Amino acid sequence: MMQNNLFIYNSLSKKKEQFKPIHPPFVGIYLCGPTVYSDTHLGHSRPAITFDLLFRYLTHLGYKVRYVRNITDVGHLENETLGEGEDRIEKKARQEQIEPMEVVQKYVNAYHKNMAQLNTLSPSIEPRATGHIIEQIELIKTLIKSGYAYESNGSVYFDILKYNEKYKYGKLSGRVLDELMSNTRNIDGQEEKRNSFDFALWKKASPEHLMRWPSPWSDGFPGWHLECSAMSIKYLGEEFDIHGGGMDLQFPHHECEIAQSTAALGKESVHYWMHNNMITINGQKMARSLGNFITLDQLFSGDHPVLEQAYSPMTVRFYILQAHYRSTIDFSNEALQAAEKGFQKMMKAVESLDKIKPSEKSTVDVTNLKGKCYEALDDDLNSPMVLSHLFEAVRLVNSIIDGSEKIDLPGLESLRELFQTFLFEILGLKNESATAGDEKLTDELMKIIIELRQAAKDHKDWPTSDKIRNELKIAGIVIKDLKEGAEWERE
Ligand code: ZN
Repeated sequence: MMQNNLFIYNSLSKKKEQFKPIHPPFVGIYLCGPTVYSDTHLGHSRPAITFDLLFRYLTHLGYKVRYVRNITDVGHLENETLGEGEDRIEKKARQEQIEPMEVVQKYVNAYHKNMAQLNTLSPSIEPRATGHIIEQIELIKTLIKSGYAYESNGSVYFDILKYNEKYKYGKLSGRVLDELMSNTRNIDGQEEKRNSFDFALWKKASPEHLMRWPSPWSDGFPGWHLECSAMSIKYLGEEFDIHGGGMDLQFPHHECEIAQSTAALGKESVHYWMHNNMITINGQKMARSLGNFITLDQLFSGDHPVLEQAYSPMTVRFYILQAHYRSTIDFSNEALQAAEKGFQKMMKAVESLDKIKPSEKSTVDVTNLKGKCYEALDDDLNSPMVLSHLFEAVRLVNSIIDGSEKIDLPGLESLRELFQTFLFEILGLKNESATAGDEKLTDELMKIIIELRQAAKDHKDWPTSDKIRNELKIAGIVIKDLKEGAEWERE
């Protein structure tokens, strides 16, 4: 049996609990992914990086992790609290006069590009809501059969009062029914519901609505909360280990997910709920209306009025990991510039490890740093603490470089391993200047090779020019002969 000392904060019990997987060595994680109707923004980066850290750490500990992160491509309405308004994707499609699935594809591609830039690992499964309409319809049938859902005018709603008789609604967010009753108003279409706070499992589509599927109740589309219950059960089982998301999803999204899954299965589905805190910009909430809404492309290019410069993806990742995932984090130019400096300082120390010549004897002790880093991670993924231990290692490296301390070969190997394991493998940072330098060198070398080949062609030395082209092809590089000269690209 696998052992771990990992404690994680369970948002449901509001306590740090030891992590005990249901079926070790397997671990299941479900993270609510993006609704793909606009560019990936700063707000998307935090859950992606937080749960990437969790995925990486559990994998490092030896677990076989199935990490499911969905794509919401239907059912997320403009007002998510009240569950009303136009479908976000359909609205965008109408504005741009393209198919809803073109909107989805465009922003899924953009999301994947940005997530790769942030060096987050791909999830094991990335299911889409529209690919699981059948599973959602089946789940609704189960809920109707057990009396927790009712059909009304072609739509189906979840009966919160009925649920509350047996189970307690609101245990995650602490929202109580009285509060919900006073906060929800009766508006258009609400008269279909038994109570104004009941949420939609299935919505009958109006004649002009584009995204629609047949169902026993009407041609329509599923409610937003339903997909996550249906897909988590499908890919992780009726009970699974960890469900994650941003704190803003606790209500209503996760509260409704809990109600649906519990009502359908007769038991709690999720063992640990984990929520990352939010990002603010210069102390303010990020909102389009405040003019401080920053996409990741803008952040990486510096192309936004509130940005003084571009910030590299690794600066952003480093900055996010400098805060504990349950603390708020404020983005400002000053803070990002400080993070950029700190990250560069750390990378410089890592690069300079190669220059260190080991001594016979060490004057420093590096053996305790590894244990300290594990301790920090085990304490609810305390990444800022891991980084502060790594900075301790940076100080040691610098004092060895300037000659005030000495280190022996095993000590030097431990330092290398420390950065390799914690900085690169688990925190998922990478040395951007190294890869940027490599790219530049490759460009220079390819220029020389292309010139040599051109010289061979000019001398009608076909065997040499063919040899260069063929061997580059084996190395994964294709030469294209164009009118204006030869170009190269990776296959
Ligand atoms: Zn979800």
